[in-house]
Amino acid sequence: MIIKVYKSVDGRLMRLRKDSLPLQLYSAWESRRHLLKGDPSTMQQASFGRFTVNFCPWRANRPQPAPRLNANIREPHQLCTFDKEAVIQQEGVAALEIDGRLYHVLINLNPVNDPSFILTKAPDRPADELCQIIHSPVDIADSMTMHQLFPPQLSFLFNSNPAGSTDAGATINHFHLQSFCFKDRPGDIRFQSASTRVLGEKEDVYAYLKILEENNNAYNLLFLRTVFGATQVAAIPRTLGIPTTPIQSQVLTETIGAPFYVGFLSISNQTIFQAMKRSPVEAELVLAQWQRETTVDKETLARFERQYRGSLKLGEIFTKQPG
Ligand SMILES: [Zn+2]
Repeated sequence: MIIKVYKSVDGRLMRLRKDSLPLQLYSAWESRRHLLKGDPSTMQQASFGRFTVNFCPWRANRPQPAPRLNANIREPHQLCTFDKEAVIQQEGVAALEIDGRLYHVLINLNPVNDPSFILTKAPDRPADELCQIIHSPVDIADSMTMHQLFPPQLSFLFNSNPAGSTDAGATINHFHLQSFCFKDRPGDIRFQSASTRVLGEKEDVYAYLKILEENNNAYNLLFLRTVFGATQVAAIPRTLGIPTTPIQSQVLTETIGAPFYVGFLSISNQTIFQAMKRSPVEAELVLAQWQRETTVDKETLARFERQYRGSLKLGEIFTKQPG
């Protein structure tokens, strides 16, 4: 595997040593903070149960597609903001190339915390590799490789396109990963237990995602570091549950896709943030129901686990009830 790392200066790529990527990311983040739509250092937080809620009002104004009924997870890619040279020029801080496949690293103008980046496939990739789903095990392997090059405090989150009535929080139909920080929760026990519990090899994860894709069920992928520094991937199907209260609708559609594993949610609505502070029990109940209803039935999961020789731990996160 040939890996090249670049820093991006006004859209021009300049080769860097691989181990200088973390320094480039942190210094670029500081020098471009003025572009952010909100300052994550002013973020209000509230704790309830096992979770922290981060109140990020600026994220309410980020570009969002119009809600669609019966969305198709394979919606073809159309030209979008990540295809614009001006956007790559202004927001791009680095690029990574893996066997010739190029990814741009942009600062996240609508940060979930501090620092916050977006990794996108370069727009000259074939159009059928650009839409916001996992296209092959190579996408997973590349993401794991990039995660290893990033500072260890940063995790990656992939949000698939919306599908049917399910929504994984993706706002742009162009392959991109969010990268955000765990540094304020060092040694968090949830983090450590999550990292030892989930996952498998990239082919196993991909096989599971194909089931979700065929069932038209949106999903998240979370890339975490283990305590030993390895990258592990959690595949998380999104719920079929239809939100009926404001707290549900915000928690089920607006938040970071994997609160059980990262320990926090990101909320953008002031009224709902206040309501969650007043009704922490309702908020925790919504989270408890988070993963219960998906398109994957027990038989499918059992078949899937047999197929993967029982070595696969994916089923655990889908079948285990929270708490
Ligand atoms: Zn695009």
